[in-house]
Amino acid sequence: MAKTVLVIGGGPAGLSAAKTLGKLGIPTVLVEKENTLGGRPILEGYHTLIPRKMTPSQVLAPYIEEVQRSSSVKVKLNTQLVSCEGTAPDFKVKLSDGEELEIAAIIVATGFQHFDPRRKGELGYGIFPDVITNLELEQMFSKEGRLYRPSNGQLPERMAFVFCVGSRDRQLGVTNVHCCRYGCALSGLQASEIREKYPQVEVFCYYMDVRTYGTWEYPFYWEPQEKYGVRYVRGRIAEITYSHSDGKLRIKHEDTIVKRPAEIPMDLVVLVLGMEPSEGTKKIARILDLAQDPDSQFLIPAQESGSNVISPKAGVFIAGACKGPIDIESSLSEGEAAAVEALAFIGAKVTV
Ligand SMILES: Cc1cc2nc3c(=O)[nH]c(=O)nc-3n(C[C@H](O)[C@H](O)[C@H](O)COP(=O)(O)OP(=O)(O)OC[C@H]3O[C@@H](n4cnc5c(N)ncnc54)[C@H](O)[C@@H]3O)c2cc1C
Ligand code: SF4
Repeated sequence: MAKTVLVIGGGPAGLSAAKTLGKLGIPTVLVEKENTLGGRPILEGYHTLIPRKMTPSQVLAPYIEEVQRSSSVKVKLNTQLVSCEGTAPDFKVKLSDGEELEIAAIIVATGFQHFDPRRKGELGYGIFPDVITNLELEQMFSKEGRLYRPSNGQLPERMAFVFCVGSRDRQLGVTNVHCCRYGCALSGLQASEIREKYPQVEVFCYYMDVRTYGTWEYPFYWEPQEKYGVRYVRGRIAEITYSHSDGKLRIKHEDTIVKRPAEIPMDLVVLVLGMEPSEGTKKIARILDLAQDPDSQFLIPAQESGSNVISPKAGVFIAGACKGPIDIESSLSEGEAAAVEALAFIGAKVTV
C-alpha cells in the first residue's frame, strides 16, 4: 500500500501539514503552484501580522526551513495537480510537470483570494487613486516604509478604513455573506501603527459592528481608541466620491448611531477586503470532487465527522482558508490536525 501523502498548497496550512508529516517521517510531496512557499502573507507582502505583531517571515520562516530541510518532504514549486484517479489509499495522481505518483492520502490547503473591490463600484476603487485596499496599505508599509496618498505622494491629513468590503454583504447575493474574521483586528493594528508614527494624521474606522474575536478585543479595538485616538464611526457607506474643488474624497454615509446622513472629506480611504475561495481551491474541488458550500464555494468538512479537517471524500483532508475565512494561527493548527488525521487514515508507522 502506498504511504505517501500529497499536500496541495504551500501557504500556512499546507506548510504546517507538511512540517508535521516530515517530523513524523512520513513520505510527503508538497506541491505549490507559485515559485515561493508561504501563501498569501509572503506572496502578497503583508507587513505586520495580527495578533503577535510579527512579520510574515518571522512567523513562517521556521515552517519553510523545516519543510525544506526535511528528508521526508519533497517540495515541488510551480506545480499543480492535474488529475486524480482511483480511491484512497490508492490514489493515482498526475502533476503538471508530468510526474505520476501513488498517493495514500491528500491534504488540500489551497487557500483564498482577496475580494475584488471593483465589484463595489460605489466605493470608487480603480477610479480614484486615493481609494486603496488594506492589502495595498500593507504593501505600502512593507515595500516603501511610509504612508502616502498615491495621487500626490503626500502624507494624508485625514484617512478612513471602510470595514467589511466584500464581506457580510447581501447586496452581492449569497456568495459573500460571511465575515472575514481578520479585518477589524488588522485595521485596529494598522490604524494604531499610523497614529503612532504620524500623530498628525486623523484616522477613522467605519464599521457595521466591530468583530475583534477573543483576546483580540483589547489590543485591536480598545487600544486603538484609548491609546492612539483612532475614531470609530458606526456607519453604512453609501458612496465614495471625489471633489475637484479641494482634491479630496468624500465618504457619504449614514451614521447609524445618530441616524443622520453625513459627508466627510478624506485624503485616503482604505477598503478592508473580504476573503473568497481561491481559483486553485475551486479547481481542486472539481478535480477531487470535493463538497463545496453552495453559496460561498468554500470547501466543507464531513458534518458527521465532528472534525473541521476531514472532508466527505475518504482519504482527503482540508485545512486553512480553502474552507472559509480564517487567521494564520488557526490555519497552522488546522494543518497539524489534517496531518494527524491523514496519518491515522493511512495507518503509517511513525519513524520518530
Ligand atoms: C489583507 C489581508 C491581511 C491579513 N492579515 C492577517 C494577519 O495579520 N494575521 C492573520 O492571522 N491572518 C491574516 N490574514 C489571513 C491569512 O492571510 C490567512 O489566514 C492565511 O493566508 C491562510 O493560509 P492558507 O494556507 O490556508 O491559505 P493561503 O495563504 O491562501 O495559501 C494557499 C497556498 O496554496 C497555493 N495554491 C492554491 N491553489 C493551488 C493549486 N491548485 N496547486 C498548488 N498550490 C495552490 C497558493 O499559491 C498559496 O500559496 C489576512 C488576510 C488578508 C486578506
Ligand atoms: S472581521 Fe470585521 S471587517 Fe471583517 S467582515 Fe467581520 S466585521 Fe467586517
